[in-house]
Amino acid sequence: MAPQYDAVVVGAGFGGMGAGIQLDRLGLSNYVILEREDDLGGTWHVNHYPGLAVDIASVTYSYSFEPNPHWSRLFAPGEELKKYAGHVADKYGLRRRMRFGTVVDGARWDDERQHWVVSIAGGDTVTGRYLLTATGFLSQPYTPPFPGIDSFAGKIIHTTAWEDDFDLTGRRAAIIGTGATAVQLVPEVAKKAQALTVFQRTPIWVVPKIDTAIPTPVRKLFERVPATQKAARLVNTSLLEALMVVGVLHFKQARLLNKGAGALAKAHLRASVRDKETRRQLTPHYDFGCKRPTFSNHYFTTFNQPHVRLETNSIDHVEPDGIVTADGRKTEIDTLILATGFNLWDVNFPAIEIIGRDGVDLGKFWRDNRFQAYEGITVPKFPNFLSLNSPYSYSGLSYFTTIEAQMKHMGRLFGELRRRGETTFEVTERANAEFLDRVTDKLGSSVFYGGDCATARSYYFNQHGEAALLRPTSTLNAHREAVGFPLEDYVYGKTA
Ligand code: NAP
Repeated sequence: MAPQYDAVVVGAGFGGMGAGIQLDRLGLSNYVILEREDDLGGTWHVNHYPGLAVDIASVTYSYSFEPNPHWSRLFAPGEELKKYAGHVADKYGLRRRMRFGTVVDGARWDDERQHWVVSIAGGDTVTGRYLLTATGFLSQPYTPPFPGIDSFAGKIIHTTAWEDDFDLTGRRAAIIGTGATAVQLVPEVAKKAQALTVFQRTPIWVVPKIDTAIPTPVRKLFERVPATQKAARLVNTSLLEALMVVGVLHFKQARLLNKGAGALAKAHLRASVRDKETRRQLTPHYDFGCKRPTFSNHYFTTFNQPHVRLETNSIDHVEPDGIVTADGRKTEIDTLILATGFNLWDVNFPAIEIIGRDGVDLGKFWRDNRFQAYEGITVPKFPNFLSLNSPYSYSGLSYFTTIEAQMKHMGRLFGELRRRGETTFEVTERANAEFLDRVTDKLGSSVFYGGDCATARSYYFNQHGEAALLRPTSTLNAHREAVGFPLEDYVYGKTA
């Protein structure tokens, strides 16, 4: 029995949309994109807290084949990303493929029929020759189980469930968490709240953000002469690449550059925060890059304001009217904002149950063995499956470089299938093991293993202490391998 679709894509964020565009280019146009939310855009649909903006310059944080000359700033605000996602979906005819409000429970490889059976909450199923999951890395919000949190009588709000009409004016607010989200949110909440306490467990490295509005003549130039925006992209991408490859991945060889970035962040802190004790509390004690660094010109200075307080004692429990810290002190609040991030390693790899050949469960396989995926995209025993958010897939910094490398991988793989007149693929155990050995070896030079990351509590590390999220190569290498991986790294077959 033929499957309903050539391919089923799970997730309508930028990853799933890139996959859809590539499927069309490859002539696999009978596909569906299933999305649990009520609209497209992934992260940029879900997140709309005050202050949200990209922290990778927009010329780079966008598809290279679909430049947007209309960004208002070097670092565009979140709503422009959402608008851009809508534009891409319209231009590439993706919307008609999308089914919103569709929660995928799991997917099972049917070995007899050689296709995937995808189960949707509510009992429906769809079948596809190929399965592509683009469920994101930061898509499962995390709320720590603070004792007593359910008894809190005021307003609780997680940053991924922001209510746009929620007015913070005059509120006594607390923000728990000091990751990239809090760094953007804290200055905005401080503008309105009567009192704000920021609960910090681990300080974060913050460097200045060289942000500015893009003047209309420059936008016009980008529109009329796209090569100028391309050049700007090249310069910015090369800088990011240098920072990542030299400062983070080759930490052992280029310790000085890494230390330089740390020194810049410390100077920024010194210049921004008046109180010595607050400065000390805001200073990280792990190497730059162990955890994703952040960019802001307003985060640190917010702590100079008289109604803003940094709390570094650990949270003991929550009461109906406040948060009690381990020293027994209660901070009275009426609004509790959870900037507590996402759960990557327990519930996100994979985000849905995936059962491959011989009944192998991907989540169990990753947990019982090691987190792994050949070129960050395919796994042995999972035929016709592309896991776009895999261990070792994300090249760091702009996620679009990863999306486009994966689109190229699809091009080479499906091109080979077409050339052979075959319909199934599966990566070999050998190729997968060699890739895992290689990335493990490369990580040895990185800040993750060569630096001091002990106190970082970074989500780059999994529950076994392995830095299994980032691909420890340059993005150039990722792109080169996507178009040139040995074709014999896969076995191919024909559906009977
Ligand atoms: P995050 O980096 O994981 O930060 C979560 C924060 O919550 C951390 O400070 C963490 O403290 C704290 N926390 C968690 N459990 C806690 C507990 N039990 N007690 C006290 N504190 C607790 O999450 P995020 O800030 O949402 O950012 C996630 C990622 O999203 C970023 O790294 C970035 O990649 C992306 N992001 C990007 C942008 C952008 O500008 N493009 C903006 C926002 C986010 P510990 O550090 O001690 O665990």
